[in-house]
Amino acid sequence: MNDTDLSPFRSALRTWFDAARADLPWRRDHDPYRVWLSEIMLQQTQVNAVIPYYERFLASFPDIQTLAAAPLDRVLKLWEGLGYYSRARNLHKTAQTIAVGNFPTTAADLMKLPGIGRYTAAAIASICYGEQVAVLDGNVIRVLSRLLDYAEDVTRPAAQSELWKQAERLLDPKYPGDHNQAMMELGRTICRPRNPLCLLCPVRSYCAAFLAGTQALRPVKSARKPIPHLQVAAAVTYRDDGRFLIAQRKPEGLLGGLWEFPGGKQEADESLEQCVARELHEELAIQIAVREKITVVEHAFTHFRITLHAFRCEYLGSDNGIAPQTIGCADYRWVTLDDVDEFAFGKADLGVIAALRALRR
Ligand code: SF4
Repeated sequence: MNDTDLSPFRSALRTWFDAARADLPWRRDHDPYRVWLSEIMLQQTQVNAVIPYYERFLASFPDIQTLAAAPLDRVLKLWEGLGYYSRARNLHKTAQTIAVGNFPTTAADLMKLPGIGRYTAAAIASICYGEQVAVLDGNVIRVLSRLLDYAEDVTRPAAQSELWKQAERLLDPKYPGDHNQAMMELGRTICRPRNPLCLLCPVRSYCAAFLAGTQALRPVKSARKPIPHLQVAAAVTYRDDGRFLIAQRKPEGLLGGLWEFPGGKQEADESLEQCVARELHEELAIQIAVREKITVVEHAFTHFRITLHAFRCEYLGSDNGIAPQTIGCADYRWVTLDDVDEFAFGKADLGVIAALRALRR
């Protein structure tokens, strides 16, 4: 697209967006807290999955001060099932930083906050404050690659940097917020990954891939390496009084701060039963007797997949003869099935809880 096409292209895109924009709850005003919350939730997650989480979260934390004052456990509980929990931890930390000052109003200042990268900063600054900064997310990369019939591998840093430049070049300087939202909406609803709806597309006369018939070949992405698949064993360890043990993960890292049935990754030279007994000894300094398997849960993270084998276990005692110790975890509790809703768990552990509830029926 050359520079003389820019004005009619922007206008066609904006006119389409004015008529077609979905009525999403975070679009009802330009409140930076709401836009920020929605942008964080929408990272790696589809719009329809986000809406109920967004509404529940706002009902509990209607403004940044309420969020900042809330305990992290409560924030994680409301995030439970949405995945990528570092987003929730960063959101909470950032709320505590912002609550004592003012919400930053420029992309450059927003990027200084934890968990806010270039995309999120540009989205908030353009939508809420009209700053002339473009966004580039997966949807926009796809739209741009097709509009420009861009044949480079978009996973390469040099290609990303070229696409950022192109996104800035195409940006409508008068309506940057609407333009950015329109590009994302076009990618979500019309310029879809497979079978783009080109005949309904408001900008097809500017689309080089449409003219060349190469839409299905764009964007170009190098083949992904196969992701590792781990076997993981977890223990539902019962005490004589019928309560079972849950542990809280350390605050940093994957699923940090969430609760789980303790366990870990199977090593090459051990059975799943040996693995779970070893892990509980390492994490909590306790001995258990491993009994039958309760359930098997499959779960995919971004960079690996797990098969989680959950075992019913009996508590035999602890190294100090008194109680478990928090060696490889932040905390632990002895609970009943009725208590677990007070704690935030990751998706795989929620699968174990569902199996326990089904067994109780
Ligand atoms: Fe995407 Fe087709 Fe529109 Fe081009 S014409 S931007 S490929 S939907």
